[in-house]
Amino acid sequence: MLPALVIHGGAGDVDEKRALAKLKGVQIAAREGWKLLNQSGGSALDAVEAAVRVMEDDENFNAGTGSVLNLDGDVEMDALIMEGHKLNAGAVAAMRDVKNAVSVARLVMEKSEHILIVGQGANRFAEAHGVPRLEPGALITDYEINCLEDVKNKRKGNAPGVGTVGAVAVDKEGRVAVALSTGGTCGKTPGRVGDTPLLGCGGYCDEAVGAVASTGHGESITKACLASTIFNLMKQGVPVQDAAEQSCEFLTARTGGTAGAIAVSKDGHLAVAHTTDKMSWATVSNGELRAGVKWGEEVVEKI
Ligand code: ASP
Repeated sequence: MLPALVIHGGAGDVDEKRALAKLKGVQIAAREGWKLLNQSGGSALDAVEAAVRVMEDDENFNAGTGSVLNLDGDVEMDALIMEGHKLNAGAVAAMRDVKNAVSVARLVMEKSEHILIVGQGANRFAEAHGVPRLEPGALITDYEINCLEDVKNKRKGNAPGVGTVGAVAVDKEGRVAVALSTGGTCGKTPGRVGDTPLLGCGGYCDEAVGAVASTGHGESITKACLASTIFNLMKQGVPVQDAAEQSCEFLTARTGGTAGAIAVSKDGHLAVAHTTDKMSWATVSNGELRAGVKWGEEVVEKI
């Protein structure tokens, strides 16, 4: 069963054209992550970071380039990375003008004594560790400018705030990791921080159990502590797919919001679940890459 990788490209409504682009995007990210995971000595941590970076660089996802815009029309990103051996984690929030927020989160984990650094402090930390600062506006796409206009005018146009990215993995040695990156929600108040960089909400992992990543309405995910709710069910021995489905349903029943999640158990069992209409996802295990934009509908390739 080992190694195994699951990724998501965000939960929520998307039109057919964008859904196809996301399907292609999660497949590319899954192949990239798998390359690192399946090589000798491949680490779950390197694989989840690599998969997330690919999606941050793909403007069809709400992370890095192509992130949604806040009310002022600016990109502010949240990201998290965690490893399940020592429970080390790093995160950034409301950070601007950096190509790969997930890699800054990894620097926070590896080069600081903190877990979460926000706003200007996150940008200063990134620059101090050699991460180049982009020109203001470099991450903004026309699609997201239109989305923000739609949200401001309350028009139903491009689906807003969809496409946060995440990855969970277990490697050949049984090490687990999770990584997430997002622009948050379209039209958010500047300075708003969602679930993504928060341990137990956006993601969580422990090699004794497995790894979990969430996506969807951040305030609802935070109220339901979605990642930790799934994780605790897994810890009690609930099969991973049931744990993810039950927890997403609990979130929707209890908060009225919608969400999705991916998970992998320490022995390589995988889960994909969502209460949104769609969620792009990909799994790789046992020589097969499966991907879809809805759980239950999939394309399969040998890998
Ligand atoms: N959970 C993210 C947030 O609320 C958005 C998403 O997953 O689409 O910031």
